[in-house]
Amino acid sequence: MMTEEIKIIGVVGGGQMGSGIALLAAARGIDVWLHDTDPNALTRSRKYVSGFVQTLVSKGHLSQDAGSDALVHLHCTSNLEDLHSSDVIIEAIVESEDVKRKLFSELDKIAKASCILASNTSSISITRLASATNRPQQVIGMHFMNPPPIMRLVEIVRGADTSDASFSATKSLAERFGKTVICSQDYPGFIVNRILMPMINEAFYTLYTGVASKEDIDTGMKLGTNHPMGPLELADFIGLDVCLSIMKILHGGLGDGRYAPCPLLVQYVDAGRLGRKRGIGVYNYR
Ligand code: NAD
Repeated sequence: MMTEEIKIIGVVGGGQMGSGIALLAAARGIDVWLHDTDPNALTRSRKYVSGFVQTLVSKGHLSQDAGSDALVHLHCTSNLEDLHSSDVIIEAIVESEDVKRKLFSELDKIAKASCILASNTSSISITRLASATNRPQQVIGMHFMNPPPIMRLVEIVRGADTSDASFSATKSLAERFGKTVICSQDYPGFIVNRILMPMINEAFYTLYTGVASKEDIDTGMKLGTNHPMGPLELADFIGLDVCLSIMKILHGGLGDGRYAPCPLLVQYVDAGRLGRKRGIGVYNYR
């Protein structure tokens, strides 16, 4: 499928990532059907898209007409079957392999034969998601960074059976969203998290073993290596539970002790210190 043929996009999951992805499509005049099982998420999502569009219009990045048009292109639905005419469906639901596999199997029945099923997963195997469908050649990873409207990268992940045609169509779509694309094979952590998460984990070990204070670790990496955020600050932004689950996938999938999650990271998650979203993580935001 060529990207010009992509006229309708389905997005499943209207959380932080799904809302941002829906916005990217609607602002380019693509019809978007956004599904979430939680009606409150759909309300929040529409509010987020409308607020973001207003900001783009007020800053002169989008014309008033294009702004109003974007909102017309966004359709929110609690009925998954409304995604049946989508050319591409991008899944952005909870990071659970069981829940995602069940969804992919349902989407396979609902979606038209030519539809590409993409997942925004940070760490789950695309090959295993594809095996829940009868169209593994049309299943692909389309990993946006957070927040999708701002971050310029999309990491495309090819499962064992992803076809060249699905890869080209997904790449063109990401480029239509104004993104730079990198391509990863389907191994734990793909490219970005394979490198980023061990760095964050090492920052936790540096804190855990008393080498330095959290402030000095973050300042060291910001000013010493020109990172915009220190690793501990970034972990709070991403969510410590998300960091821990990705470390577990790296550890299990690569079978190497150097990926073992730091006990301090585990303890913070056990204590509910999940980062900014909970008001406390490595730092206190309350
Ligand atoms: P989120 O918790 O903000 O949103 C998930 C949404 O999915 C919720 O609104 C929930 O109601 C909905 N949902 C859950 N199960 C569903 C189902 N079966 N059907 C329909 N809707 C369902 O999560 P998020 O941060 O947007 O993450 C979504 C995905 O994106 C995950 O796979 C995550 O790993 C990935 N991701 C997250 C980030 C990040 O920084 N947050 C970055 C890149 C990728």
